[in-house]
Amino acid sequence: MPLTFANDLLNWYRNVKRDLPWRDTNDPYRIWISEVMSQQTRIDTVIPYYNRFTEAFPTVYDLASAERQQVLKLWEGLGYYSRARNLQDAAKTVVEEYDGKVPSDYDEIIKLKGVGPYTAAAVLSIAFNKPHAVMDGNVMRVITRFYGIESDIRSTHTKKEIQQLADNLIPESNPGDFNQGLMELGATVCTPSSPACSDCPLQLECTVAHSVRTETIPYKSPAKKVPHHQIAVGLIVNSEGELLIALRPEDVMLGGLWEFPGGKKEKGEKLNETVARELKEELGVEVEVLDEFQSLKHAYSHFKITLTAFWCRIEKGTPKPKSGDELRWVSLNQIDEYPFPKANKTLIGSLLEMDAERLRSEAGWR
Ligand code: SF4
Repeated sequence: MPLTFANDLLNWYRNVKRDLPWRDTNDPYRIWISEVMSQQTRIDTVIPYYNRFTEAFPTVYDLASAERQQVLKLWEGLGYYSRARNLQDAAKTVVEEYDGKVPSDYDEIIKLKGVGPYTAAAVLSIAFNKPHAVMDGNVMRVITRFYGIESDIRSTHTKKEIQQLADNLIPESNPGDFNQGLMELGATVCTPSSPACSDCPLQLECTVAHSVRTETIPYKSPAKKVPHHQIAVGLIVNSEGELLIALRPEDVMLGGLWEFPGGKKEKGEKLNETVARELKEELGVEVEVLDEFQSLKHAYSHFKITLTAFWCRIEKGTPKPKSGDELRWVSLNQIDEYPFPKANKTLIGSLLEMDAERLRSEAGWR
């Protein structure tokens, strides 16, 4: 085992460590929130969300007893909303089963909803000083290059090998700084292309430092093609100039958020036929599909969508929720109070440039 790895890394990290709001606390609850928010998300984006979230819910008790809609509203725009729902469910478990204390034992914390090996290792090492090594893309890049590992990092075998090496490297003292330092090194120095080996504290012992092998390690087999879905939604307006929105069920992707009703285009369908079919299936209404309002693209982690919104006028029936939990008519003044997925937020931004009378007229009221 390289003798100076941990020391070199820790000395480097102490010099470059950024001053972040969750780095001046040992509160496991706050560290847990920061780690959940930071997954798949840039730190600069996380900071204002973290500040607003911890101000609204300063303790695990506050989060556990909060309204779900308030939690989702404070998460709005951060994406991966199951993180917010799981965090609140886990907070309830901490209150009910652990006397309000975040578990400090790996076998217990990993049982909490939404807590996987990464979050467990991060919270235990940073908040409780326990030597559990975290594993993310940055850590994997540093370790594979340091040891010259050329096998596919998508394979379970390689992942286990890297985890084992990191577990052997992590020191008993300052394991939290070690983990954060390794991630920071991968993010800022040992970058995917053109790593700055001359600035790296590990360069003397690194297997591939200053060589072309940094271009081929880590090796990652090609990803599967990301599916692209066409989604069509209806903008239905009542006589008061209010828009119809639907609540997504809790147990689906983006659950607990509101949306404009609609759904996925089927093979051979035109988009205006999709919206008419979906509104009939979801709300039990027959609509006349009017003009297209807006079309936009959005990428999720495992698929992409093109979302197209149409003005719709109800010809027959009264909207009733079939697949969603709830429907609501909301005015332009109220709509911003509801949590929506990002693609719907873009539509709302454009709708807010109109007034109720314009909505009525676009949606077929004479
Ligand atoms: S020496 Fe270069 S390749 Fe090796 S860990 Fe440091 S930045 Fe990465």
